[in-house]
Amino acid sequence: MYHSPDDRVSILQLNSELQHAQLELLSAHCAVHQLRLHYSFEDLARLGRRDVLRKSAEAASALHDFYRDIETRAPAPRCQTVPQPTPEEIAQAIQWTCECLRANRERYISFARPLTSEQIAVFSPYFPATLLEQIRIAELHGKRVDVPDFLNEARGRGFENLPDISHMDSLTFLDVVVFNEKFSERALFHSLVHAVQIQVLGLERYAELWVQGYLKTRAHFSVPLEVQAFALASRFVRPTQPAFSVESDVLFWQAERRY
Ligand SMILES: [Zn+2]
Repeated sequence: MYHSPDDRVSILQLNSELQHAQLELLSAHCAVHQLRLHYSFEDLARLGRRDVLRKSAEAASALHDFYRDIETRAPAPRCQTVPQPTPEEIAQAIQWTCECLRANRERYISFARPLTSEQIAVFSPYFPATLLEQIRIAELHGKRVDVPDFLNEARGRGFENLPDISHMDSLTFLDVVVFNEKFSERALFHSLVHAVQIQVLGLERYAELWVQGYLKTRAHFSVPLEVQAFALASRFVRPTQPAFSVESDVLFWQAERRY
């Protein structure tokens, strides 16, 4: 269905929706794990409502069938070696990440604007007031942030699933959030989670955890710092979810060494 380079955005869209579904599945998995911790199989079978148990089993097996069918159609993975960077190269990547975030902050701060009072009202149940006052946002309306050389170089060396800078909805450069296209609350929420992570962890540690997370999982979307930002932004857009503190969540992940 998607063959030409022009379809790249559609493929990105497909993968972003696939990733979104995976995060939703992850929260369902967590909820079931809690059940298992709290109740025995016998109690669930004896006391659980029949209809709820049946519907849950049906949903789980339909999902299983769906993903298994896709897997059987997927081409066999190409045999290729995963590039392994040296400790010096890892240190260099961390340094480049810090420099890139700092340089872009300086580049975009001059034409970025503060959040409007309406935006502050929307986000204040989730973020500290001082952060929301400090944040600046810039909209590029399709002009797009330049891809730093080191990312292109890493891609050329066989590192896959790196962040696709020019197709991301928004990017966080410390306290400046840049939108490649146009503003969206969900993308801003995601970026504000990164701003909190940077403030809590410090820029160097944030960059270090990002690079290490990528080398462990080999995909931008599965870096724990990103998983948290995606998961919290998807909680934010669900209207039934009560407000929560992003800062507390970040402190919790830091204490639990989840990054
Ligand atoms: Zn992100």
